[in-house]
Amino acid sequence: MMKHFFRIPLLLGFSIILNACSGPDTLTENPEKSRTVDLTHDFSENTVYWVTAQEFELDTVFEGKTEKGYYYSAFNFSTAEHGGTHVDAPIHFAEGTQTVDEIPVEKLMGKAIKIDVSKKSLFDPDYQITVGDLTAWEK
Ligand SMILES: [Zn+2]
Repeated sequence: MMKHFFRIPLLLGFSIILNACSGPDTLTENPEKSRTVDLTHDFSENTVYWVTAQEFELDTVFEGKTEKGYYYSAFNFSTAEHGGTHVDAPIHFAEGTQTVDEIPVEKLMGKAIKIDVSKKSLFDPDYQITVGDLTAWEK
């Protein structure tokens, strides 16, 4: 259990990255049509957590000019590990399985496509992607 607790800093520093392609080409097949996208959301008082989880807390250690004239910025933070952008390692629900640091980083990246439904979402904030959106993209 304690081992899992110490995964928190790793999860917060982790970025979910995917290769968004403008078409069915992959990064290796057509790198000029691919790009890397960081999908991580900032941790803040607005981060969504499980109802029983500790919410994000940020304390300023120091921020500003020091007495010696140089700028210094440092913070302490605490939060539940299962909130906001994070990875649920297999050990989360299966004893004896991988922790986050044991997952090869290559397993955390992959091919993806981008289906833009932002215009539809402007008029319906609860818009959910449809089969029609997928078939339209395929065409
Ligand atoms: Zn989780």
